Amino acid sequence: MKSDRKIPFLAGLSRRGLREWMSSEGQPGYRGEQVADWIFGRGVIQPEQMTNLPASLRLLLQARFHAPGSSVAEVSSSEDGTEKLLIELFDGESVEMVLIPSEERLTFCLSTQVGCPVQCRFCASGRDGLVRNLSAGEIIEEFLLGSERAGRRPDNLVFMGIGEGLLNYNELVKALVLLSSPDEFGMSPRRITVSTSGYVPGILKFAELEREFNLAISLHAPDDATRSKLIPPPFCYPVAEIMAAADRYRELAGRMVTLEYTLLKGVNDSIPTARKLAALARSHHAKVNLIPYNATDTEFQRPERRVIEAFARTVEEEGAHVTVRVERGAESTAACGQLRRQEG
Ligand code: SAH
Ligand code: SF4
Repeated sequence: MKSDRKIPFLAGLSRRGLREWMSSEGQPGYRGEQVADWIFGRGVIQPEQMTNLPASLRLLLQARFHAPGSSVAEVSSSEDGTEKLLIELFDGESVEMVLIPSEERLTFCLSTQVGCPVQCRFCASGRDGLVRNLSAGEIIEEFLLGSERAGRRPDNLVFMGIGEGLLNYNELVKALVLLSSPDEFGMSPRRITVSTSGYVPGILKFAELEREFNLAISLHAPDDATRSKLIPPPFCYPVAEIMAAADRYRELAGRMVTLEYTLLKGVNDSIPTARKLAALARSHHAKVNLIPYNATDTEFQRPERRVIEAFARTVEEEGAHVTVRVERGAESTAACGQLRRQEG
Protein backbone atom coordinates (compact mmCIF):
# COMPACT_ATOMS: atom_id res chain seq x y z
CA MET A 1 0.00 0.00 0.00
CA LYS A 2 1.28 3.48 -0.80
CA SER A 3 2.06 5.49 2.30
CA ASP A 4 2.59 8.91 0.68
CA ARG A 5 0.21 11.44 2.20
CA LYS A 6 0.11 13.56 -0.95
CA ILE A 7 -1.42 10.85 -3.12
CA PRO A 8 -5.12 11.58 -3.70
CA PHE A 9 -7.93 9.06 -3.27
CA LEU A 10 -9.77 7.95 -6.37
CA ALA A 11 -12.88 7.61 -4.18
CA GLY A 12 -12.68 11.32 -3.34
CA LEU A 13 -13.38 12.46 -6.91
CA SER A 14 -16.75 13.47 -8.32
CA ARG A 15 -17.95 12.45 -11.77
CA ARG A 16 -16.84 15.83 -13.02
CA GLY A 17 -13.49 15.52 -11.25
CA LEU A 18 -12.90 12.19 -12.97
CA ARG A 19 -13.69 13.69 -16.37
CA GLU A 20 -11.36 16.61 -15.71
CA TRP A 21 -8.56 14.34 -14.55
CA MET A 22 -8.90 12.26 -17.72
CA SER A 23 -8.76 15.32 -19.95
CA SER A 24 -5.71 16.65 -18.06
CA GLU A 25 -4.05 13.35 -18.96
CA GLY A 26 -5.06 13.74 -22.60
CA GLN A 27 -7.70 11.01 -22.35
CA PRO A 28 -11.13 11.28 -23.92
CA GLY A 29 -13.87 12.49 -21.56
CA TYR A 30 -15.85 9.26 -21.80
CA ARG A 31 -13.05 7.48 -19.94
CA GLY A 32 -13.98 9.60 -16.92
CA GLU A 33 -17.60 8.51 -17.32
CA GLN A 34 -16.51 4.88 -17.48
CA VAL A 35 -14.58 5.16 -14.23
CA ALA A 36 -17.48 7.06 -12.64
CA ASP A 37 -19.83 4.23 -13.59
CA TRP A 38 -17.55 1.70 -11.94
CA ILE A 39 -17.28 3.69 -8.74
CA PHE A 40 -20.76 5.17 -8.32
CA GLY A 41 -22.71 2.48 -10.13
CA ARG A 42 -20.96 -0.68 -9.03
CA GLY A 43 -18.91 0.39 -6.04
CA VAL A 44 -15.68 -0.74 -7.70
CA ILE A 45 -12.65 1.36 -6.82
CA GLN A 46 -9.83 -0.96 -7.98
CA PRO A 47 -8.60 0.08 -11.46
CA GLU A 48 -7.56 -3.52 -12.18
CA GLN A 49 -11.23 -4.50 -12.10
CA MET A 50 -12.30 -1.79 -14.56
CA THR A 51 -12.24 -4.15 -17.51
CA ASN A 52 -13.40 -1.69 -20.14
CA LEU A 53 -10.33 0.52 -19.65
CA PRO A 54 -7.10 -0.03 -21.55
CA ALA A 55 -4.42 -1.72 -19.44
CA SER A 56 -2.15 1.33 -19.62
CA LEU A 57 -4.88 3.56 -18.18
CA ARG A 58 -5.57 1.10 -15.37
CA LEU A 59 -1.87 1.18 -14.50
CA LEU A 60 -1.83 4.96 -14.60
CA LEU A 61 -4.79 5.20 -12.22
CA GLN A 62 -3.12 2.73 -9.90
CA ALA A 63 0.08 4.75 -9.89
CA ARG A 64 -1.56 8.12 -9.29
CA PHE A 65 -4.23 7.33 -6.72
CA HIS A 66 -5.00 5.43 -3.58
CA ALA A 67 -7.50 3.07 -5.14
CA PRO A 68 -8.24 1.98 -2.51
CA GLY A 69 -6.14 3.26 0.38
CA SER A 70 -8.04 1.34 3.06
CA SER A 71 -8.82 -2.30 3.69
CA VAL A 72 -10.83 -4.36 6.15
CA ALA A 73 -8.35 -5.78 8.66
CA GLU A 74 -10.83 -7.54 10.92
CA VAL A 75 -14.54 -8.28 11.24
CA SER A 76 -16.23 -8.81 14.61
CA SER A 77 -19.80 -10.09 14.56
CA SER A 78 -22.43 -9.92 17.28
CA GLU A 79 -25.30 -12.37 17.66
CA ASP A 80 -27.78 -9.65 16.77
CA GLY A 81 -26.28 -9.45 13.27
CA THR A 82 -24.22 -6.31 13.86
CA GLU A 83 -20.77 -6.39 12.31
CA LYS A 84 -17.89 -4.16 13.26
CA LEU A 85 -15.20 -3.65 10.65
CA LEU A 86 -11.72 -2.61 11.65
CA ILE A 87 -10.48 -0.55 8.74
CA GLU A 88 -6.79 -0.16 8.20
CA LEU A 89 -5.84 3.11 6.52
CA PHE A 90 -3.01 3.67 4.06
CA ASP A 91 -0.63 4.96 6.76
CA GLY A 92 -1.20 2.11 9.22
CA GLU A 93 -3.74 4.04 11.32
CA SER A 94 -7.18 2.55 11.75
CA VAL A 95 -10.83 3.39 12.35
CA GLU A 96 -13.92 1.29 12.91
CA MET A 97 -17.29 1.23 11.20
CA VAL A 98 -20.41 -0.75 12.05
CA LEU A 99 -23.00 -2.49 9.85
CA ILE A 100 -26.34 -2.61 11.62
CA PRO A 101 -29.06 -4.68 9.95
CA SER A 102 -32.65 -4.64 11.15
CA GLU A 103 -35.73 -6.26 9.68
CA GLU A 104 -36.53 -3.24 7.55
CA ARG A 105 -33.21 -1.65 6.81
CA LEU A 106 -29.45 -1.69 6.80
CA THR A 107 -27.61 1.15 8.55
CA PHE A 108 -23.91 1.95 8.40
CA CYS A 109 -22.27 3.84 11.23
CA LEU A 110 -19.20 5.63 9.87
CA SER A 111 -16.15 7.31 11.40
CA THR A 112 -14.84 10.74 10.38
CA GLN A 113 -11.55 11.02 12.27
CA VAL A 114 -8.80 8.82 13.69
CA GLY A 115 -9.37 9.43 17.40
CA CYS A 116 -11.34 12.49 18.51
CA PRO A 117 -10.24 15.88 19.83
CA VAL A 118 -13.38 16.43 21.94
CA GLN A 119 -12.58 13.72 24.49
CA CYS A 120 -15.97 13.37 26.15
CA ARG A 121 -15.29 11.72 29.47
CA PHE A 122 -17.51 8.68 28.92
CA CYS A 123 -16.35 7.84 25.38
CA ALA A 124 -13.60 5.43 24.33
CA SER A 125 -13.12 7.04 20.91
CA GLY A 126 -11.57 10.22 22.26
CA ARG A 127 -9.28 8.74 24.85
CA ASP A 128 -6.05 9.45 22.96
CA GLY A 129 -7.23 12.72 21.39
CA LEU A 130 -7.14 13.38 17.67
CA VAL A 131 -4.60 11.52 15.56
CA ARG A 132 -5.73 12.84 12.18
CA ASN A 133 -8.73 13.65 10.04
CA LEU A 134 -10.06 11.24 7.45
CA SER A 135 -10.16 12.59 3.90
CA ALA A 136 -13.41 12.55 1.94
CA GLY A 137 -12.01 9.67 -0.13
CA GLU A 138 -11.38 7.64 3.01
CA ILE A 139 -14.92 8.28 4.24
CA ILE A 140 -16.27 7.12 0.87
CA GLU A 141 -14.03 4.06 1.06
CA GLU A 142 -15.64 3.16 4.42
CA PHE A 143 -19.01 3.33 2.68
CA LEU A 144 -17.74 1.16 -0.19
CA LEU A 145 -16.03 -1.41 2.05
CA GLY A 146 -19.21 -1.69 4.11
CA SER A 147 -21.32 -2.12 0.97
CA GLU A 148 -18.96 -4.79 -0.31
CA ARG A 149 -19.17 -6.64 3.00
CA ALA A 150 -22.98 -6.40 3.12
CA GLY A 151 -23.43 -7.22 -0.57
CA ARG A 152 -25.56 -4.14 -0.94
CA ARG A 153 -25.80 -0.41 -0.31
CA PRO A 154 -27.10 0.79 3.06
CA ASP A 155 -30.54 2.36 3.48
CA ASN A 156 -29.28 4.74 6.14
CA LEU A 157 -25.96 6.27 7.04
CA VAL A 158 -25.13 7.69 10.44
CA PHE A 159 -21.91 9.54 11.20
CA MET A 160 -21.78 8.29 14.77
CA GLY A 161 -18.55 6.33 14.71
CA ILE A 162 -15.20 7.71 15.77
CA GLY A 163 -14.62 11.45 15.62
CA GLU A 164 -16.37 14.81 15.61
CA GLY A 165 -17.30 15.19 11.97
CA LEU A 166 -17.99 18.92 12.17
CA LEU A 167 -14.35 19.44 13.22
CA ASN A 168 -13.39 17.80 9.92
CA TYR A 169 -15.91 19.95 8.13
CA ASN A 170 -14.57 20.25 4.59
CA GLU A 171 -13.81 16.59 4.10
CA LEU A 172 -17.06 15.48 5.72
CA VAL A 173 -19.13 17.81 3.56
CA LYS A 174 -17.25 16.75 0.44
CA ALA A 175 -18.12 13.13 1.29
CA LEU A 176 -21.75 14.05 2.07
CA VAL A 177 -22.09 15.77 -1.29
CA LEU A 178 -20.70 12.72 -3.12
CA LEU A 179 -23.01 10.41 -1.19
CA SER A 180 -26.12 12.45 -1.84
CA SER A 181 -25.67 13.86 -5.35
CA PRO A 182 -27.71 12.19 -8.10
CA ASP A 183 -24.59 12.25 -10.29
CA GLU A 184 -22.64 10.24 -7.75
CA PHE A 185 -24.01 7.83 -5.11
CA GLY A 186 -27.47 9.39 -5.12
CA MET A 187 -28.59 8.67 -1.55
CA SER A 188 -31.35 10.81 -0.13
CA PRO A 189 -29.89 13.35 2.34
CA ARG A 190 -32.86 12.50 4.57
CA ARG A 191 -31.29 9.08 5.06
CA ILE A 192 -27.99 10.50 6.24
CA THR A 193 -27.45 11.69 9.82
CA VAL A 194 -24.52 13.67 11.12
CA SER A 195 -23.98 13.52 14.86
CA THR A 196 -22.10 16.29 16.65
CA SER A 197 -20.99 16.76 20.24
CA GLY A 198 -22.56 20.21 20.04
CA TYR A 199 -19.80 22.05 18.19
CA VAL A 200 -21.70 25.30 17.64
CA PRO A 201 -19.56 26.93 14.90
CA GLY A 202 -19.82 23.68 12.92
CA ILE A 203 -23.60 23.43 13.35
CA LEU A 204 -24.06 27.01 12.10
CA LYS A 205 -21.88 26.38 9.07
CA PHE A 206 -23.65 23.10 8.36
CA ALA A 207 -27.00 24.93 8.51
CA GLU A 208 -25.82 27.35 5.82
CA LEU A 209 -25.53 24.43 3.41
CA GLU A 210 -29.33 24.29 3.41
CA ARG A 211 -29.40 20.60 2.60
CA GLU A 212 -31.78 18.11 4.13
CA PHE A 213 -29.28 16.07 6.10
CA ASN A 214 -30.39 15.00 9.56
CA LEU A 215 -28.56 16.51 12.46
CA ALA A 216 -28.21 14.80 15.84
CA ILE A 217 -26.76 16.84 18.69
CA SER A 218 -25.23 15.06 21.66
CA LEU A 219 -26.62 17.22 24.44
CA HIS A 220 -26.35 14.82 27.40
CA ALA A 221 -27.58 17.42 29.88
CA PRO A 222 -30.17 20.20 29.85
CA ASP A 223 -27.96 22.43 32.03
CA ASP A 224 -24.40 23.75 31.74
CA ALA A 225 -23.20 22.56 35.15
CA THR A 226 -23.89 18.89 34.33
CA ARG A 227 -22.75 19.20 30.74
CA SER A 228 -19.38 20.61 31.74
CA LYS A 229 -18.73 17.48 33.81
CA LEU A 230 -19.07 15.37 30.66
CA ILE A 231 -17.39 17.37 27.91
CA PRO A 232 -14.12 19.13 28.67
CA PRO A 233 -13.15 22.58 27.39
CA PRO A 234 -12.68 23.96 24.77
CA PHE A 235 -15.46 21.99 23.06
CA CYS A 236 -18.11 22.24 25.76
CA TYR A 237 -20.55 24.85 24.45
CA PRO A 238 -23.36 26.36 26.55
CA VAL A 239 -26.73 24.66 26.21
CA ALA A 240 -28.41 27.94 25.18
CA GLU A 241 -25.95 28.46 22.30
CA ILE A 242 -26.37 24.87 21.17
CA MET A 243 -30.15 25.18 21.15
CA ALA A 244 -29.98 28.46 19.21
CA ALA A 245 -27.77 26.73 16.63
CA ALA A 246 -30.23 23.82 16.53
CA ASP A 247 -33.06 26.26 15.75
CA ARG A 248 -31.02 27.74 12.96
CA TYR A 249 -30.40 24.27 11.55
CA ARG A 250 -34.09 23.42 11.63
CA GLU A 251 -34.98 26.69 9.89
CA LEU A 252 -32.38 26.45 7.14
CA ALA A 253 -32.18 22.69 6.53
CA GLY A 254 -35.87 22.14 7.14
CA ARG A 255 -35.24 19.09 9.31
CA MET A 256 -36.18 18.41 12.91
CA VAL A 257 -33.08 18.02 15.06
CA THR A 258 -32.51 15.04 17.38
CA LEU A 259 -31.02 15.54 20.84
CA GLU A 260 -28.90 12.56 21.80
CA TYR A 261 -28.60 11.89 25.47
CA THR A 262 -26.20 9.35 26.92
CA LEU A 263 -27.79 8.25 30.19
CA LEU A 264 -25.29 8.01 33.02
CA LYS A 265 -26.16 6.66 36.44
CA GLY A 266 -26.45 9.33 39.09
CA VAL A 267 -25.20 12.04 36.70
CA ASN A 268 -28.02 13.00 34.34
CA ASP A 269 -30.75 10.41 34.97
CA SER A 270 -33.03 12.06 37.55
CA ILE A 271 -36.72 12.79 37.01
CA PRO A 272 -36.34 16.61 37.38
CA THR A 273 -33.59 16.42 34.74
CA ALA A 274 -35.93 14.47 32.45
CA ARG A 275 -38.51 17.25 32.84
CA LYS A 276 -35.99 19.95 31.99
CA LEU A 277 -34.83 18.00 28.96
CA ALA A 278 -38.39 17.54 27.75
CA ALA A 279 -39.15 21.24 28.13
CA LEU A 280 -36.03 22.11 26.14
CA ALA A 281 -36.84 19.61 23.41
CA ARG A 282 -40.43 20.79 23.15
CA SER A 283 -39.64 24.46 22.96
CA HIS A 284 -37.11 23.82 20.19
CA HIS A 285 -39.19 21.24 18.31
CA ALA A 286 -36.54 18.57 18.76
CA LYS A 287 -36.76 14.82 19.26
CA VAL A 288 -34.92 13.05 22.08
CA ASN A 289 -32.89 9.88 21.62
CA LEU A 290 -31.73 8.28 24.87
CA ILE A 291 -28.58 6.14 24.72
CA PRO A 292 -28.05 4.14 27.91
CA TYR A 293 -24.32 4.25 28.64
CA ASN A 294 -22.31 1.41 27.13
CA ALA A 295 -19.44 0.18 29.24
CA THR A 296 -15.97 1.52 28.44
CA ASP A 297 -13.19 1.80 30.97
CA THR A 298 -14.42 5.05 32.53
CA GLU A 299 -15.85 5.76 35.96
CA PHE A 300 -19.42 6.00 34.61
CA GLN A 301 -22.18 3.43 34.90
CA ARG A 302 -25.39 2.64 33.09
CA PRO A 303 -28.55 3.41 35.08
CA GLU A 304 -30.76 0.48 36.04
CA ARG A 305 -33.44 -0.47 33.61
CA ARG A 306 -36.31 0.89 35.66
CA VAL A 307 -34.50 4.25 35.90
CA ILE A 308 -34.05 4.37 32.12
CA GLU A 309 -37.72 3.53 31.63
CA ALA A 310 -38.87 6.13 34.17
CA PHE A 311 -36.69 8.78 32.52
CA ALA A 312 -38.07 7.98 29.06
CA ARG A 313 -41.65 7.93 30.36
CA THR A 314 -41.22 11.31 32.01
CA VAL A 315 -39.82 12.91 28.84
CA GLU A 316 -42.78 11.50 26.93
CA GLU A 317 -45.36 12.56 29.49
CA GLU A 318 -43.94 16.06 29.37
CA GLY A 319 -44.81 16.12 25.70
CA ALA A 320 -41.53 15.48 23.88
CA HIS A 321 -40.96 12.78 21.30
CA VAL A 322 -38.54 10.23 22.75
CA THR A 323 -36.86 6.99 21.66
CA VAL A 324 -34.46 4.76 23.58
CA ARG A 325 -31.61 3.41 21.49
CA VAL A 326 -31.62 -0.35 21.54
CA GLU A 327 -28.15 -1.56 22.24
CA ARG A 328 -26.62 -3.28 19.24
CA GLY A 329 -23.28 -4.94 18.93
CA ALA A 330 -22.26 -4.79 22.58
CA GLU A 331 -20.57 -8.20 22.52
CA SER A 332 -18.20 -7.03 19.82
CA THR A 333 -17.77 -3.61 21.52
CA ALA A 334 -19.39 -2.04 18.47
CA ALA A 335 -21.97 -0.05 20.42
CA CYS A 336 -21.98 3.75 20.68
CA GLY A 337 -18.89 5.11 22.34
CA GLN A 338 -17.02 1.81 22.33
CA LEU A 339 -15.28 2.29 19.00
CA ARG A 340 -11.58 2.96 19.13
CA ARG A 341 -8.62 3.13 16.89
CA GLN A 342 -6.38 0.10 17.39
CA GLU A 343 -3.01 0.87 18.86
CA GLY A 344 -0.33 -0.10 16.38
N1 SAH B 1 -18.72 12.70 17.92
C1 SAH B 1 -20.08 12.66 17.61
C2 SAH B 1 -20.50 11.36 16.96
C3 SAH B 1 -19.89 10.09 17.47
S1 SAH B 1 -20.38 9.57 19.08
C4 SAH B 1 -20.92 12.91 18.83
O1 SAH B 1 -20.38 12.95 19.93
O2 SAH B 1 -22.12 13.12 18.67
C5 SAH B 1 -22.06 9.00 18.79
C6 SAH B 1 -22.92 9.00 20.04
O3 SAH B 1 -22.46 8.03 20.99
C7 SAH B 1 -22.88 10.33 20.77
O4 SAH B 1 -24.17 10.73 21.11
C8 SAH B 1 -22.08 10.00 21.98
O5 SAH B 1 -22.34 10.86 23.04
C9 SAH B 1 -22.49 8.59 22.27
N2 SAH B 1 -21.59 7.89 23.17
C10 SAH B 1 -20.27 8.07 23.31
N3 SAH B 1 -19.78 7.22 24.25
C11 SAH B 1 -20.81 6.50 24.70
C12 SAH B 1 -20.93 5.44 25.62
N4 SAH B 1 -19.89 4.95 26.27
N5 SAH B 1 -22.16 4.92 25.82
C13 SAH B 1 -23.23 5.38 25.15
N6 SAH B 1 -23.17 6.37 24.24
C14 SAH B 1 -21.97 6.92 24.01
FE1 SF4 C 1 -15.69 12.44 20.24
FE2 SF4 C 1 -18.31 11.96 20.04
FE3 SF4 C 1 -16.72 10.40 21.57
FE4 SF4 C 1 -17.25 12.88 22.32
S1 SF4 C 1 -18.72 11.22 22.10
S2 SF4 C 1 -15.23 11.90 22.35
S3 SF4 C 1 -17.31 13.94 20.38
S4 SF4 C 1 -16.63 10.62 19.36
